[in-house]
Amino acid sequence: MKKIGVLTSGGDSPGMNAAIRAVVRKAIYHDIEVYGVYHGYTGLIKGDIKKLEIGSVGDIIHRGGTMLYTARSDEFRTAEGQKKAIDQLNKFGIEGLVVIGGDGSFRGAEKLTEHGFPAIGVPGTIDNDIPGTDFTIGFDTALNTVINAIDKIRDTATSHERTYVIEVMGRNAGDIALWSGLADGAESILIPEEKFQLEDVVSRLMRGHERGKKHSIIVVAEGVGSGAEIGKQLQEATNLETRVSVLGYIQRGGTPTAFDRVLASRLGAKAVDLLLEGKAGRMVGIEQNQIVDHDISEALSKTHQIDKKMYELSQQLSI
Ligand code: ATP
Repeated sequence: MKKIGVLTSGGDSPGMNAAIRAVVRKAIYHDIEVYGVYHGYTGLIKGDIKKLEIGSVGDIIHRGGTMLYTARSDEFRTAEGQKKAIDQLNKFGIEGLVVIGGDGSFRGAEKLTEHGFPAIGVPGTIDNDIPGTDFTIGFDTALNTVINAIDKIRDTATSHERTYVIEVMGRNAGDIALWSGLADGAESILIPEEKFQLEDVVSRLMRGHERGKKHSIIVVAEGVGSGAEIGKQLQEATNLETRVSVLGYIQRGGTPTAFDRVLASRLGAKAVDLLLEGKAGRMVGIEQNQIVDHDISEALSKTHQIDKKMYELSQQLSI
C-alpha cells in the first residue's frame, strides 16, 4: 500500500484532529502518501481530496473540531453513492481509507469494505456509544466540559437554594450523564438505559430537603426526555424552586483533554498499522488500556452497555 486517505464523518468530537495527525504522521513515517478527504463522505463522492504533508497537520493536536470538516451524506447511503466514492478513491490512486467517526460512519466504512475497498474505523464521538471500545475519542473532553459547567451551576444552586436539572447530550447512550453525574455528586441520574420512576426522584429530593440540603442536581440524558418537562414535573411534585439548564453544543467543542489526545494518537496510528497489514473492515478501540481491533460488523451487531456497577454506585452515594 502506497497511498491512503483519511476522513472525519458524523458529529465532530474533540480529539479528531489529533487522530488525523496520527494517521498522517504514522503513514508518512512508513513512506506512505496520505490524502485528506474533506467534508466526510459528501466530499469523498465529490472528490474533495488533497494530499497532506507532515506540516499539514502541524499545530492541530490541541484543537477541537476537525481540520477536514465533517458532514452527513444521504447519497453515500446508496449503492450508487458508494460506487461514486470508490471511483474517486481509485482516481487518486488511494488504496485504503481511515474513517474517523461514530457508528453511522463505521457502517459507511463497512460498505466500502464490502465493495472491495479496504476501510478502517476510528471511534470519534463524544457519546461513548460504540461497542468494541471502552472509550471513544472526545468523550473525556465532553465529560470535563460538562462537569465544569455543573460546578458553576452548583454555585448558583447553593446560593439560591434551588434544584437544578441539567440536560446533557446522549440520545441513546447515558455515559455522559452517568459519568458527569457521578463526578458531580448528582442526586439523581436519568439515562435511557435504566428505567426510573419520577416518584423515586421526588422522594430522593424530599429526603435531602428534610435533612437540610440546600440544593440538588439532577442530570438528565437528552434521550430520556426534555429536561424542561422533567424540571416542571419535579417543581410541581416537590414545591422546591427548580431551574433547568440544557448544556447543548458546548459539549461538542473545546480543547481536547490529554486523555483524548493520547487515545486519538494511539488509535490513529493503529488504523494505519492495520491497513499496512492488509486488514479491512475493522475498527480500532481501547479495552483495558490495550489497543485492540475488531471486525466492524461484529462490533456493531452488539449494543454499547453502560457500566451497571457505576450506575448502582451513583445511587448508593446519593442517598
Ligand atoms: P455521531 O454518532 O457522532 O453523530 P455518526 O458517524 O454515527 O456520528 P451518522 O450521521 O450516523 O453519524 O453517520 C455519518 C454518515 O455515515 C452518514 O451521513 C452517512 O453518509 C454514513 N452512513 C451512516 N449509516 C450508513 C449506512 N448504513 N450505510 C452507508 N453509509 C452510512
